[in-house]
Amino acid sequence: MKHKEVNMNDGLAVTGLVANYGTTRAVSELDLSIDRSEFVTLLGPSGCGKTTTLRCVAGLHTPRSGEITLGGKPLYAPEVNIPPHKRDINMVFQSYAVWPHMTTRENVMYGLKAKKMQKAKARAKAQDMLELVGLAEFADRHATDLSGGQQQRVALARALATEPSLVLMDEPLSNLDAQLRARMRDEIRQIQRRTGITVLYVTHDQSEALSMSDRVVVMNQGRIQQIGDPWALYHRPENAFVATFVGDANLVPGVVTEVGGDSFTVRVPTLGQEAVFDIARAVAADCPAPGEAISVVFRPEWARVSREDAPAATSLARNEINARLVSSEFLGDHFERTYEAGEHRLRVLAVTGPTSRPPEMGAEQTLLITPENLTWFRREDTAPRE
Ligand code: ATP
Repeated sequence: MKHKEVNMNDGLAVTGLVANYGTTRAVSELDLSIDRSEFVTLLGPSGCGKTTTLRCVAGLHTPRSGEITLGGKPLYAPEVNIPPHKRDINMVFQSYAVWPHMTTRENVMYGLKAKKMQKAKARAKAQDMLELVGLAEFADRHATDLSGGQQQRVALARALATEPSLVLMDEPLSNLDAQLRARMRDEIRQIQRRTGITVLYVTHDQSEALSMSDRVVVMNQGRIQQIGDPWALYHRPENAFVATFVGDANLVPGVVTEVGGDSFTVRVPTLGQEAVFDIARAVAADCPAPGEAISVVFRPEWARVSREDAPAATSLARNEINARLVSSEFLGDHFERTYEAGEHRLRVLAVTGPTSRPPEMGAEQTLLITPENLTWFRREDTAPRE
């Protein structure tokens, strides 16, 4: 799948980026543009090329080919390779990387002094930044005498102090415990909104990406799989990788039999019975044609057990299937269940009330997935329709 996005705005534009380590290809033909004040996240599994992309933008790794511009000015292009310190970009890393021999304030003032800002002005600016990240009272403390979360805030204040055109963040929260991580997500996002800074963020944590970003770039094996806002990525994944990496998903192969005004109909032969689903056309901008092979997608929370304490239906309506319960985990507010239906194991999130008795293991139940709760993408093993 090719994602061509070139935007010569005053944000970041990356075109045709290719990066290698020796003969290992780390990034392949990556196109990406980020508007000013936008928060964009690279999301993908370990080794997919996120950090390498960030390092190319920072000037810490030299691409094999491609172009990178910031604010319309080339950072990397044929005959151009601006050194890192002249790129007007700051970075926040996973390791806090605060200067151990300096106080919190001195850490934040460091970049301002390097930019030859007058001392009194730099001190005032550092104070503003420390207030922004909630550390004003720790200004005179040695930076290494702060907690991990506080040190990461110092790193953030230091990155923001010089008001760079772009801040790169590489897994900045992964050394923090779960509770602090959740709080810092929120704080970073609020600070980004308040300051209007442009951020390119890297994580392998999908909930971090979904909760913080304006747009998420899903990567796998050096290539972009899909770019979209968090809502669209979750509800309209364009391939199996995105569907299963961003959230949990059930995928079943089907063939389109009929296209109507509000919905189209798909026959799924591998569910152990002749299952027929109607899918609302409103879930996507386009619509497949009769005969096309697609993957039908539903999230565990999009399926419903039609009759929680009743046996499976003997005659099935459209969008219903019979399935056998093979595992069930009670998590208080919901059950995480696995059902078997034909060749598939389906994950279903069931919410029950105090009066509905949970079914026995092995029970046959009827699942309902309404036309509005199904999405789809064209199957990758079939040629796309022109
Ligand atoms: P992680 O989440 O684990 O940091 P990532 O998505 O940031 O992964 P990269 O670090 O960009 O991935 O790595 C992309 C590919 O390049 C991987 O195949 C990796 O093994 C390889 N790679 C990364 N750094 C080097 C290096 N210094 N020398 C050789 N190969 C490298």
